[in-house]
Amino acid sequence: MYTGALEAGGTKMVCAVFDEKANLIKEKSFPTKTPDETIPGLIEFFKDEKVDALGIGCFGPIDLDKSSDTYGYITSTPKTAWRNFNMVGAFKDALGVPIGFDTDVNGSALGEHTFGIGRGVDNLVYITIGTGIGIGVINDGKLLHGGMHPEGGHIMLTKHSKDDFECICPYHKSCFEGLASGPAIEKRWGKKGQELSGRDEVWQLEADYIAKAIFNYTAVLSPQMIILGGGVMHQKQLFPMIREAFVKRNNGYIRNRYTDDPDNYIVCQSLDDKQGILGAFRLGMDALEGQ
Ligand code: ADP
Ligand code: ZN
Repeated sequence: MYTGALEAGGTKMVCAVFDEKANLIKEKSFPTKTPDETIPGLIEFFKDEKVDALGIGCFGPIDLDKSSDTYGYITSTPKTAWRNFNMVGAFKDALGVPIGFDTDVNGSALGEHTFGIGRGVDNLVYITIGTGIGIGVINDGKLLHGGMHPEGGHIMLTKHSKDDFECICPYHKSCFEGLASGPAIEKRWGKKGQELSGRDEVWQLEADYIAKAIFNYTAVLSPQMIILGGGVMHQKQLFPMIREAFVKRNNGYIRNRYTDDPDNYIVCQSLDDKQGILGAFRLGMDALEGQ
């Protein structure tokens, strides 16, 4: 029995097929163009492998309300070709198998919770910091949905007193993504993050914004672990800086056995950037079980 997994991103679509023991059978990446250009190749890939179910972790925002007429659609994305595209419908019609569907970052949270450092941790927040910033939340062992899905990249953060950079989010004046995403780093410092490794001031400021966000997630969601992934988090020197800034910002207020142990509270993704596709696999397995 094979399960398909699709990590649908704004720049590429990663397709994979797993057997029931989570062994990877086949994987292929496709560039994200328009739906008309991109979707047929993906369908062909999964048809060839005769998958019994498919899990999709998708860029958003997406409609996850099963009672909604537009369940399974990508909604208000800035990628106009994909706006109001029926992602679940496209695969359901073509493959005729159960489809699991969630955000890409909820997928990563589920991947870490099922296969990675978050195993056995029933309350966790996964944060991705790359082209955008997003969070996935496991609450009492289940992905948090509510009205749609968390949009934790757009929480409002107060700007650092010495930061005169203008937030780049088109919607907000001072949000986490607009101040601390990869493109924000590039615009503020005039170079891509990967070319700024040795510049301590870049990462001190970045760590401070990430720590503020982690404090806010901690205050609201009371997680037992915070997992960080995405391109920017390849700067491993950030981890001790974030932990130190978190302790300083928390100022001794939230005390529990998780927050009191920052080295094990604030951790790096553990699946070598495979957490997203593994999470999509789990979404597919769950869809098969729940059909
Ligand atoms: P995406 O979010 O598009 O899926 P990534 O998570 O790789 O992809 O994020 C890309 C962003 O992360 C870019 O803005 C890039 O400059 C930044 N980035 C990628 N690698 C690094 C790195 N090693 N150090 C710092 N920033 C990085
Ligand atoms: Zn914003």
